[in-house]
Order: sequence, then C-alpha cells, then structure tokens
Amino acid sequence: MERIDAKALAARIKADAARQAEELRRQGVVPKLSVILVGEDPASEVYVRGKQRDCAECGIESELLRLPADTSEAALLAEIARRNADSGVHGILVQLPLPPQIDEQRVIEAISPEKDVDGFTPINVGRMLIGEDCFLPCTPAGCIELLRASGTPIAGKRAVVLGRSNIVGKPMALLLLRENATVTVCHSKTENLAKIASEADILVAAIGRDRFVGAGMVKDGATVIDVGINRGPDGKLHGDVDEAALATKAGWITPVPGGVGLMTRAMLMVNTIKAAQKGR
Ligand code: NDP
Repeated sequence: MERIDAKALAARIKADAARQAEELRRQGVVPKLSVILVGEDPASEVYVRGKQRDCAECGIESELLRLPADTSEAALLAEIARRNADSGVHGILVQLPLPPQIDEQRVIEAISPEKDVDGFTPINVGRMLIGEDCFLPCTPAGCIELLRASGTPIAGKRAVVLGRSNIVGKPMALLLLRENATVTVCHSKTENLAKIASEADILVAAIGRDRFVGAGMVKDGATVIDVGINRGPDGKLHGDVDEAALATKAGWITPVPGGVGLMTRAMLMVNTIKAAQKGR
C-alpha cells in the first residue's frame, strides 16, 4: 500500500490558514483561539502544545488557561462563559478528557456554537447532520481531506467506519454519507466485522485497538484511514491498522504517527480562521 502524504497536505492547509490570518489582520482582526486544559494528563499536554505551535505558525493568537485537576464544573463553566462573551476570542477549545467531577457533555454544551471550533456542540452536530454550514469536527473533516488528496473516489463507494464515538466514528460516517458513499458503521457489538470491513473501498479505523485491522480485513485496492493512536507493548505509537501486514496490498493508507493526527491539528486552524472570519 502507498502512504498518503498527510504531512504535505497538512502543511498546505496550514499555509492557506496563515494567508487567511494575515488577511484578517490587515482588516484589523487578530484571530484568537482560547484553549482550556484541566489537570495534567500527559497526552493532553502534548496535544495542547501542538495546538499552540500550530497557532503560532499560522499567525493565530493562542491563549492557554491551565486549571488544576480539582477544578469544579461551575468554575470551568464560568471560564467558558467569560470567553463566550469576549469578542476578542474567536475559538474556544476545552481539552478532553476532563476529570471525573466534571460532566463533559455539559461543558461542551456551554461553549458558544459560534466559537465551537471542535464542532462538538449539539448545534454544530445538528447542522452537520442536515448539511448546513457549521464547524466540522476536526478529525473526520481531516479524514475527508486525506481521501480527496489521495484521489480516492467517494461517491457511490462502499465505506466502512470502525467505531461509533461522538467525536470520530459517528461524524465520520455522516461526512462520508454527505459525500455520497454507502456507509456501514461497525462497533463492539458488530457481528462478522472482519467480513464487512473486507468489503470496503474506504475503511476508516477508529476503535483505539493496537493494530487490530490485519490483512484479512482489507480489500485489495482499498483506501485505509487509520485514526487510532495506541501505545503498543513496544512503547511506540501504533494505529488501529497493522500497516506492515498490508504492505503487499494495493491501495492507500495513512501512517501512524504522521497521518490523521496532523490533519486533526490542521483542521483546527481552518475552523479557527472560519470563526474569526464570521466573528469579525
Ligand atoms: P472511543 O473509545 O470513544 O470509541 C471507540 C469505538 O470503537 C467505540 O464505538 C467502540 O464500540 C469501538 N470498538 C472498540 N473496540 C472494538 C472492537 N474490538 N471491535 C469493534 N469496535 C470496537 O474512541 P475515539 O473514537 O475517541 O478514538 C478512537 C481512536 O482514535 C483512539 O485510538 C484515539 O486515540 C484515536 N483518536 C485519534 C485522533 C487523531 O487525531 N488521530 C483524534 C481522536 C481520537 P462501542 O461503541 O460498541 O463501545
């Protein structure tokens, strides 16, 4: 299988975001993303640092609010309300996961839909469902861009999504449907998953299981989008797909690391610019 060059694609998308940020600045608008991090989850720290670096590269101002792990839900909601009301803040992102005393869904719903650059609020999810203009969730939106960049036809094709989370699997299925694919969603209760997966022209793996998808689950010539990020027993990062096992097949695949993750970050920049353009 040939690798889709996510690095080059993400760089192109970020360069375009930077050009748009410059244009906004010329008009007197400084695009700004506010990130809230509660606690000290090491993976979240890495993600947040990455987002700040991306903002700096794209000419987007970024603010990081660090709150202690024992922060109350009310205190977090108050911080969100402050940023909702601040016209200088265009995008608000609360890094997930949150500590157990905080209701994640309530927090997401507190973010103004106009500043919801993650695309997680019910308003944006609903708008996506009915095909209205909205902030698309970054990971699935990035996967669609990867499919386009590889020249993979989507309309009329059989797409199988492994995983049905609110942030990846479900929106991924919706976006593929919007692109006119025939979509099947598999999850932990699915029977004959391997057979269903092996019939896919487009296979998106988002289950969080180290190298779960082997050669027998992939059709020759398929495009495989590997969303998973798993720490393997070797201490290294691996996807949900066993890329090495697919080496002799025809088709396209995204590497892990250096695949979907880069696109998720790039699409956040796209959404932040869009929020600034709307909020100007
Ligand atoms: P969740 O844990 O929220 O969801 C996992 C989904 O996979 C569930 O729907 C679950 O089914 C399904 N599943 C789990 N095990 C199996 C199995 N053995 N067979 C079939 N289905 C299974 O994960 P996320 O969607 O948040 O993330 C998925 C992966 O993607 C993770 O590795 C995560 O780290 C990664 N990720 C990567 C991003 C990136 O930018 N590259 C961004 C976000 C996530 P059920 O609903 O029945 O429980």
